[in-house]
Amino acid sequence: MGKVQETVLEIDLSALAHNYRLLRGRIREKTKLLAVVKAFAYGSDAVKVAQKLEALGVDYLAVAYVSEGVVLRDAGIRTPILVLHPQIANFDKIIEKCLEPSLYSERVLKAFLATAEKHGQKQYPIHLKFNTGLNRLGFSEAEIPLIAKEMKNNRAVKAIAVFSHLAASEDDGERSFTQQQLNRFEGIAAKIDLEIGYRPFRHVLNTSGILNYPQAQFHMVRSGIGLYGFGNDAKVDAQLRPIASLKTIISQIHTLKAGESVGYNRAFIAGENCKIATLPLGHADGIGRIYGGGTTQVLLHDTAVYIVGNVCMDMIMIDVTEIDCSEGDEVTVFGNGITATTFAETAHTISYELLTGISQRVTRRFIGD
Ligand SMILES: *Cc1c(COP(=O)(O)O)cnc(C)c1O
Repeated sequence: MGKVQETVLEIDLSALAHNYRLLRGRIREKTKLLAVVKAFAYGSDAVKVAQKLEALGVDYLAVAYVSEGVVLRDAGIRTPILVLHPQIANFDKIIEKCLEPSLYSERVLKAFLATAEKHGQKQYPIHLKFNTGLNRLGFSEAEIPLIAKEMKNNRAVKAIAVFSHLAASEDDGERSFTQQQLNRFEGIAAKIDLEIGYRPFRHVLNTSGILNYPQAQFHMVRSGIGLYGFGNDAKVDAQLRPIASLKTIISQIHTLKAGESVGYNRAFIAGENCKIATLPLGHADGIGRIYGGGTTQVLLHDTAVYIVGNVCMDMIMIDVTEIDCSEGDEVTVFGNGITATTFAETAHTISYELLTGISQRVTRRFIGD
């Protein structure tokens, strides 16, 4: 693994395998594992990650949008792919590419039934999504008779699963709310079994759900962030391995006298003589302006140093006054030593947002395969 020569997001596929096995070890042998690979597999690389997971034996994949599923199919991925948030305009594509839609309202259910009929489908697999308290996407319990009526008159589709999503599975203070969601889900699933006359399988847990509510794994669980190395929990984080590290190099070093300034709007003024290094990444790469102004640290030679001044589109500057360093030296933005969670916390956000925000301009480099 050579030194980096530009900004790269290094993806460790052996860490992915480690996390996959660890999560597998947390669920029953019979429980299927669905890997959520939406948003470029949380900012890494959806195709590479899906290929690795397929090789590891993952049961299911999920993406948010149809276009993301199309990319995976076109890359040769054959594992079932659930599309969590499809739009009617893409329903032909869903069938063309053998994707499985989440259907979440009367409007989309009717539209998908019509599309499946138009394509002459028989028992095309769909997942019925229910709202149990997140109030984001999903049928309500009261709509079950309507769903049953639609499904009974239609042989083109088959509900292979009923599912829901938890609002606060990582939040210990919301255990009773989560339990209420789980109870509601069980009630809904049982009603569906009765009303449509067969038993779709059930899935409800995300990563934190897997860790905190193992009794609710049903037939399948859905993990995203856990596979990428974060469990929303310090104890679990210690066992998981982050798969992505953002690394870069020093482009140039400037020596400044007291009173001189750095970057746009002179947002940093040197209090005393100092040394400033410029890095080739900025807000267009996913390191937003929020990380500037002395709020956030990166690692240079294992020492944490501050980002100073305004983050630019293609550059950030760091204060390296105390460090013996040269142009071309490697800098870790997050990864070993500073996790994405720690880095994100300085901007009052979460690893999910930081990771998925690393733009496609940043070269992905794969190790550990
Ligand atoms: C994104 C998503 C997940 C994955 O959640 P993690 O917390 O990353 O494990 C699971 N289910 C649904 C419906 C999602 O949208």
